[in-house]
Amino acid sequence: MTEAPLLILYTGGTFGMVESPRGLVPGGDIARRIQQALTGLPPARQASLPSFEVREAATPIDSSAATPLDWQSLARELADAYAEQRYAGFVVIHGTDTLAWTASSLAYQLQGIDRPVVVTGSQKPLEADDSDALANLEAALRFAALPALQEIAVCFAGKLLRGVRTRKWDTHAVDGFASPNYPLLGEMVAGQAILYAARGLDDQQRGLPRFELTNDGGSRESPVARIALWPGLSTRLLERWLLDDGIHAGLLEVWGSGNIPDDPALLEVLARASGEGKLLAAISQCPHGPVAIGTYAAGQGLLDAGVMSGDAMTPEAAITKLVHLLAQPLSEAERRQRFLTSLVGER
Ligand code: ASP
Repeated sequence: MTEAPLLILYTGGTFGMVESPRGLVPGGDIARRIQQALTGLPPARQASLPSFEVREAATPIDSSAATPLDWQSLARELADAYAEQRYAGFVVIHGTDTLAWTASSLAYQLQGIDRPVVVTGSQKPLEADDSDALANLEAALRFAALPALQEIAVCFAGKLLRGVRTRKWDTHAVDGFASPNYPLLGEMVAGQAILYAARGLDDQQRGLPRFELTNDGGSRESPVARIALWPGLSTRLLERWLLDDGIHAGLLEVWGSGNIPDDPALLEVLARASGEGKLLAAISQCPHGPVAIGTYAAGQGLLDAGVMSGDAMTPEAAITKLVHLLAQPLSEAERRQRFLTSLVGER
């Protein structure tokens, strides 16, 4: 057990929700409710839990309402709490809907963090029958007390996943998150948090905080468009989205290993967007496996239009990375180079 306490930051989500006439809504008073729920654990498990403090968001939210501004505020809150040097690790309680987005964004903003940051939530509220909330919190606390964990992770259903590799995988099942292109970082085994340390970040990516926070107050609106191809996608629509003044980057979710329709008009829109300095990247619509753009002639147009390979990044990891890079004072060339580099084990 660690001596310094952990800090739990409660942002909202089903974990703390309560019934209302319109359905579940975020609830408050979470520190008391957590203490109450923990009394349901067997005494030995209660006694072996790390100590913690709780901070509750002024207005807990349903994470379906989260925006880049929320990611940036949360990263700053964590960085400020980190600077207090009182906490051994951090647990973030978050709604599951956009949990993977927040975890991914935190990873880029809190690069090199040398403490555990474990993001968790639940499919059912803390006080509901058969709730997964208490088990997820207990596991998150145990992982957050392990100094060898030095990155942003997601803990759900007894699994520890790299935050920037996660996706919400199931709308209702307790086992609701997956890391389709990277193995688990750890697992709960017989009530113990077991970390697979060899799967942690590379030495140069960890243990030396070099946070990249957003100083301009951030924005609610994403400067990145997400465009999944569908058969018959009109060039006119693509043009409207990509050439919009408020859009500075685009993530294309293309076919298979990196293919798009062989349509000169469509390719010209991509080339124009690139030519205007917009960052374009492509990942596959397949949940498993990287893109290998250029394997097929049908992918050559992407290369010609300056579209960067997103490798096997999740959409969440790719978009939050583009949002992050655009928020940093970098040249276009630096942004491109960083996008193609693994910063926090995202690719
Ligand atoms: N809508 C909820 C949220 O994301 C879902 C959940 O937490 O499970 O806040």
